[in-house]
Amino acid sequence: MERADIVIIGAGVVGLAIASEVSRASRDVLILEKNPQWGMETSSRNSEVVHGGLYYRPGSLKAEASRSGRERIYALAEENGIPFKKTGKLIVAVNEGETGYLESLMKNAADNNVVAIMLDEKEARRMEPAVKCRAALFSPETGIIDTHELMKYFLRKARSLGAELVTLAEVTGIERSAGGYVVKVDNSGEEVEISARVVINSAGNNAGKIASMAGIDIGKCGYEQIYSKGEYFRVSDKFLNRTKRLVYPVPLEKSLGIHTVLDIRGGVRLGPDETVVPKIDHTVDANKRKAFYDSVKRFIPSIEEEWLSPDIAGIRPQLKYPNDGSFRDFIISHEAPKGMEGFIDLIGIESPGLTASPVIALRVAGIVDGLF
Ligand SMILES: Cc1cc2nc3c(=O)[nH]c(=O)nc-3n(C[C@H](O)[C@H](O)[C@H](O)COP(=O)(O)OP(=O)(O)OC[C@H]3O[C@@H](n4cnc5c(N)ncnc54)[C@H](O)[C@@H]3O)c2cc1C
Repeated sequence: MERADIVIIGAGVVGLAIASEVSRASRDVLILEKNPQWGMETSSRNSEVVHGGLYYRPGSLKAEASRSGRERIYALAEENGIPFKKTGKLIVAVNEGETGYLESLMKNAADNNVVAIMLDEKEARRMEPAVKCRAALFSPETGIIDTHELMKYFLRKARSLGAELVTLAEVTGIERSAGGYVVKVDNSGEEVEISARVVINSAGNNAGKIASMAGIDIGKCGYEQIYSKGEYFRVSDKFLNRTKRLVYPVPLEKSLGIHTVLDIRGGVRLGPDETVVPKIDHTVDANKRKAFYDSVKRFIPSIEEEWLSPDIAGIRPQLKYPNDGSFRDFIISHEAPKGMEGFIDLIGIESPGLTASPVIALRVAGIVDGLF
């Protein structure tokens, strides 16, 4: 049987960020990833937005991890040459009825210690001439980042501290043992067992399944996840440079609403929408084009439907409950009270999981340091 001090399940941005913080020359750290490469799932299928932290419930982990994660991501990007841009973002109210939402969002931002500036119609138009609105809330701290370069940086740092990434390594079972856990892995068709003192479950959309595999009653603990799919449409070059900032509508019931997504390489996408799906499926429904166009035309009237073509989709690992659209926080849990010392679960790491990744990693590292 192989052995490791720490096994991290999942090489997305969160697992890699954790690896970069828990690795030490004195520890054997193994990152297990079922795909042939790191970062092939949700971490490469998102808006790549470094969130300002306006929306989340004050005092929540999402609010705190978003605010300090953003500061940390910009600092890491600056120091390590990771491409990023503090574009800023406008959230726009297209009619009088929507302006009340902007007021309440501004208050929430203040409660979260995040800068948000209210603009009237003229001021908004001066910033973004292509945008039509009654008022807008401006978040100067929001930006975009090259997520692949960020993940590469985390992996490079983890490896420099001795961590090892094993790809095509799917965790299929977890059992308790005297010294910790035995993790069963299908490694390219070969069954391998790894004995580990600490196991970190950062398996994204499979995190509920992994917790269940380890013997946790995920229904009772509130760890059940659903697949909340978000699709994107690419906008042709005819749209390029029409907006300098990210432009979001007033959010719908649950999601932030279909918005403009500027990518670091200069392209523009629209999205994501939000649909709960029964299984992981990354196809984009071309029939949604009109709906995407209608959503964005409300605040960027010059856009044309023919400019839109299907792009990518990503799946948010969303907590199943509460299912009434109310706030769901990230769960980072050391399962010692369940008799599982050394087992750490990360559940419901949907947006802003990318922004929050360095802070989630520090939190997990704090737990791990207490175990060695
Ligand atoms: C449409 C969309 C838009 C988003 N936009 C933003 C945004 O703009 N800003 C932001 O901050 N956040 C955003 N997010 C959220 C962000 O992308 C995620 O929170 C983040 O990528 C989660 O990273 P992760 O490492 O937890 O998950 P993942 O990237 O999914 O990584 C989990 C890894 O675990 C592996 N795995 C699963 N099961 C096993 C197993 N049994 N054995 C071994 N490996 C396994 C998977 O293959 C995968 O590589 C968005 C998400 C979506 C879906």
